Amino acid sequence: MAGRPTLLIVPLTHSDAAAMRAAMDAAVAAGADAVEARLDFLDDASEAALRTLLTRPPCPVLATCRSAREGGRHAGTTAQRLAIAATAARLGARWVDVELADLGAAGELLAAGPVRDGRTDVIVSSHDFRGRPADLGERLAAMERSEGRIAKVAFAAAGPEDAWAAFDALRTGRKPAMALAMGEAGLASRILARKFGAFGTFAALDAAGASAPGQPTIGDLRGLYRWEAIGPETKVFGVVGCPVGHSMSPAIHNAAFAAADVDAVYVPLRVEPDAAAFDRFIDAVLRRPWTDVVGLSVTIPHKHHAFQRVGAENVDDLSAAIGAINTIRFTGDPDRPLLGINTDYAAALDALVDAMACTREDLRGSAVAVLGAGGAARAIVAALAYYGAETTIYNRTVARAEDLAAEFDSPDGPVRAAGLDRLGRLDADVLINCTPIGMHPHTDACPLPESTALHPGTVVFDTIYNPVATRLLRRAEEAGCVTVSGVEMFINQAVAQYAWWTELNPPADVMRRVVLERLGAGS
Ligand code: NAP
Repeated sequence: MAGRPTLLIVPLTHSDAAAMRAAMDAAVAAGADAVEARLDFLDDASEAALRTLLTRPPCPVLATCRSAREGGRHAGTTAQRLAIAATAARLGARWVDVELADLGAAGELLAAGPVRDGRTDVIVSSHDFRGRPADLGERLAAMERSEGRIAKVAFAAAGPEDAWAAFDALRTGRKPAMALAMGEAGLASRILARKFGAFGTFAALDAAGASAPGQPTIGDLRGLYRWEAIGPETKVFGVVGCPVGHSMSPAIHNAAFAAADVDAVYVPLRVEPDAAAFDRFIDAVLRRPWTDVVGLSVTIPHKHHAFQRVGAENVDDLSAAIGAINTIRFTGDPDRPLLGINTDYAAALDALVDAMACTREDLRGSAVAVLGAGGAARAIVAALAYYGAETTIYNRTVARAEDLAAEFDSPDGPVRAAGLDRLGRLDADVLINCTPIGMHPHTDACPLPESTALHPGTVVFDTIYNPVATRLLRRAEEAGCVTVSGVEMFINQAVAQYAWWTELNPPADVMRRVVLERLGAGS
């Protein structure tokens, strides 16, 4: 429902009424528009306790006494819950939550003065912790027919497509509504509630205060996800991966949008690891162009799935040769709805040539040693071969290195394979580590044997970005090598995504600062 800004509601789950009352002040100070007093968490929900809670609150209060049946703590009867709700209404709660299943018994509450004269509105709610209910439509229709002024549905999300189903729910009725897909996979439903005109969304005061799975903190919602900047026209971007919770991409891209004053928001989208789950999510987005999804970053384990879905004919030649993409654009063109690129290889190459003060073409004939034969190595080897470098892949599993070499070897860009045991002597102009050896928390590990000498002038590029200065890079620095941190590659790939999606000049300095701050390396 358009017209009224979506309320930012902080749920309070204290067992003591005085502590819950004190937390209301903290919630308001943190930017909450309202609080949800979870009366089912109180050890004592007597009238005296509710009076402590509801006398001159600093913001409107939603009083909820959730049944155990719907994920709450109240083990009593429907009549007891409704009595608590009626007391809360009489003492000044702005809204009371009544579960759809309890509504038939709520005649007295609905007829009581505060509800009748509109001082207290009833939110009719329905929760399902198993998944999206098959009868979601019927539940919404029943809410629509009911005396409740506001409808609320919440259900466990299997994937982010359930958040998109929640957006459908927000569009179906005439009443103000909340539709929340619970769990990490449904996080977008909470962040984008404001774009789709929901009555409210819930955000925890701190990580320990979440009252439902996947609830963000109010700090993250307002800071990281730019809650106040979100509106009906806001374009949507996100990162698809599994896991995705620790991705730095939302921080980088949201900071970039903020700095450039772009009306856009970037959200994490946890998609289960299989290709079918990836396709389900893409289908859900394509079916709903009104959700304004413009671009996606794609991370492990979906880069190959993304390539398969977008199709070789809709990506650039080198990305097609790599067989994996990390960036998707929704074009809005029904004949060609998805385009893809791989910004990883370009990011790596540019980090390298920037450090070498040369062009990509100058790599022709350079002897390059690549450690590892996984996804990152694949993108980098393909690009090195394309630009005519002479590459040797060193890998623990030699057969994997041999397969990769055979795939990209050409007279123009020869690629050979070897085992890690051949690293006793290094005779290369450039060394690129594409293994996770040395990555946090194993920061003392080094992919190059300690006995192998590094020579001054050799270029050493570690694709690891956490830590910024790995053991390998520290050794290289001491030996007088030119060093390149994976941070440069990481920043470059994000900058390239931003530029491709928005066709704007990316605020690269802002993006760099965010990455370095997140990695604790300062600016
Ligand atoms: P991946 O597909 O899992 O490949 C990992 C590679 O490392 C494989 O070749 C594997 O050898 C080798 N390896 C893993 N553990 C090893 C060990 N203990 N000893 C010897 N070899 C080992 O991973 P990926 O996607 O290519 O990522 C690799 C690294 O690249 C990441 O850890 C990350 O630090 C870096 N990266 C950085 C960026 C960036 O933007 N800076 C982007 C992507 C990746 P086997 O074949 O024998 O298993």
